[in-house]
Amino acid sequence: MKFTIPIEVQVVAETLERAGYDAFLVGGCVRDLLLGRTPKDWDITTNAIPSEIQSLFVETFYENEYGTVGVVTESEDPRLKVIEVTPYRAEGEYTNARHPDEVTFGVTLQKDLTRRDFTVNAIAYRPKTGELVDEHGGKSDLDKKLLRAVGDPTKRFAEDALRMMRGVRLSAELGFAIEQGTAEAIVAAAPKLKQISKERIRDELIKTLETKEPMAAIATFQRLGLLAYIAPDLERGIGVSQNQAHSFDVYEHLLRAAQHAADKNWNTAVRIAALFHDISKPETRRWSDEKRDWTFHGHEVVGARLTRRILADLKFPKDISEKVVALVRWHMFFSDPDKVTMSAVRRIIVNVGRENIWDLLNLRVCDRIGTGRPKEQPFRLRKYMAMVDQALRDPVTVGMLKIDGRGLMDTLGEKPGPRIGHMLHALLEEVLEDPTKNELAWLQKRASELKGLTEQQLVQMGRSGRERQAEIEAEAVREIEEKWHVLGKDS
Ligand code: ATP
Ligand code: MG
Repeated sequence: MKFTIPIEVQVVAETLERAGYDAFLVGGCVRDLLLGRTPKDWDITTNAIPSEIQSLFVETFYENEYGTVGVVTESEDPRLKVIEVTPYRAEGEYTNARHPDEVTFGVTLQKDLTRRDFTVNAIAYRPKTGELVDEHGGKSDLDKKLLRAVGDPTKRFAEDALRMMRGVRLSAELGFAIEQGTAEAIVAAAPKLKQISKERIRDELIKTLETKEPMAAIATFQRLGLLAYIAPDLERGIGVSQNQAHSFDVYEHLLRAAQHAADKNWNTAVRIAALFHDISKPETRRWSDEKRDWTFHGHEVVGARLTRRILADLKFPKDISEKVVALVRWHMFFSDPDKVTMSAVRRIIVNVGRENIWDLLNLRVCDRIGTGRPKEQPFRLRKYMAMVDQALRDPVTVGMLKIDGRGLMDTLGEKPGPRIGHMLHALLEEVLEDPTKNELAWLQKRASELKGLTEQQLVQMGRSGRERQAEIEAEAVREIEEKWHVLGKDS
């Protein structure tokens, strides 16, 4: 068997072989080569030990306690920039469902393959000879489109519970079924996910959302009992029916929205936001006799808070989390291009943040497709986008005002302090209403008029003041809902 392999990978393998060591490609790259897919990264395994590997290459770094050496290449391609070379290794006992107590080098390739997670990931390929080493029936499982644990699945998931998430992600990504025994072992071992660090779960969740099949993967997480240990709030949407605009319950709507983000290849933040945007519909749902339908008042405010908590719990970095929360918070914006005013469009941009506005529009598309009853309206969307484009030229941040803090202090004869910031925000509010007011003379005059106001009054005039008010109101809504929910359960 001969595969076409990038030159950078070939060079690393040949260097090892010329020095008298064996070099095998192993894991996901061999699986992907056999499937005719493009590997995400290239892993080489060898009988050389880390110090020997390092002595053969100009630039290397020692990656972790598992002996992996990163060989740095000249490639521009991020997938080829670093080729990971790992000595054959065996793992000792696992006492905590997370990582082995000890790792030993100097074992055979066969032994190394047995510690790998799934049969399709346990095939090795030697570029020098074209030889395939497939001790666990990986190739046959590839043909059968089956994902099967190497060895006893129960033991393997007890060793490292994250393998269950990897398995589900991989099966969805490849369109494989999970072999019966492997699936049953996942169901039994699902609670062990509690022992896995939130960071590893987060990374695997991100990888899952970044595949082309997040919906299938998350549905399988749910079916096999893993979702309860990843994002339990998603499960609350199961069976929660919605208003007449929707074909699906809240849960399926969220999965479909996330799937659409993947179909469109939109960024990770949009995918996460799509998955969580209606997370608080269950607790805000109320029946309206007047509308003869369900309503979900405040679900975006409650949902933004809950999303922040979920992402913090999963140790998402602040920047991603803030972005996702903003998208969830503002996803209910009014977007009818025939009725919306330019000042309303500017306000949406201010609210979600200039840098997030296009993602917010994408989220809206996901939301619409996720209803299962999308009204075809690409023309209206384009019209709205044109308005956004126009609005982005107007001042939408205090930084875009023709007066800054310094200028304001000079005009008013005031000292630096929070008042100046609040004043700027109050002025921005007026400029959002009418961008022609963004002239130094007007701003100076208006600032002098506002000089007499208290700090409190200025805050109220600015956006943060109004937003705070809206949050307080929504909080009140939430409290009512919670009470109602508890009552509903008891009676
Ligand atoms: P991807 O396409 O996402 O890169 P992959 O299978 O290559 O999938 P990697 O994280 O790159 O995944 O891991 C490379 C190989 O290391 C896997 O194919 C598998 O053989 C092994 N491996 C990775 N994680 C584990 C694990 N938790 N337990 C056992 N083996 C693992
Ligand atoms: Mg890989």
